[in-house]
Amino acid sequence: MIDSVDKLKDVLKEKGYKLTPQRRAILNTIIQNPNKHLSSEEIYDLVKKDCPEIGLATVYRTLQLLDDLQVITKINFDDGCARYELNINSNDHQHHHVICTKCGKVIEVEVDLLEHLEEEIEKNYGFEIKDHKVKFFGICSKCK
Ligand SMILES: [Zn+2]
Ligand SMILES: [Zn+2]
Ligand SMILES: [Zn+2]
Repeated sequence: MIDSVDKLKDVLKEKGYKLTPQRRAILNTIIQNPNKHLSSEEIYDLVKKDCPEIGLATVYRTLQLLDDLQVITKINFDDGCARYELNINSNDHQHHHVICTKCGKVIEVEVDLLEHLEEEIEKNYGFEIKDHKVKFFGICSKCK
């Protein structure tokens, strides 16, 4: 579970990467904005406040690296940008999202009744299901 920069440091070191000040600033930004599902550009704008010299390309590269290391997860809400959230537990299954099609508000849902469906698919199609991704689209209480 990666919930602090110290733990990330260990992960990076294990894989032969250094925790540069820029990588640290990017991860801190994601940690300090839980449940915000920040886009690459939003992360860039926030990180720039602490690291004015940072470039957008560095932010893209770092996010890709953190995604590869499974420290963060890339999510796509079909709004045209890549968003990221902290991978709270890389071995366990992440929550799902409900997205308002009017205002773009995103809510996280913890209920997950899909294990039963996974079992059905495994049984009927001979697959070993490793994970699933589900997005719910609708209209939030404010937009109704
Ligand atoms: Zn809404
Ligand atoms: Zn989320
Ligand atoms: Zn699920």
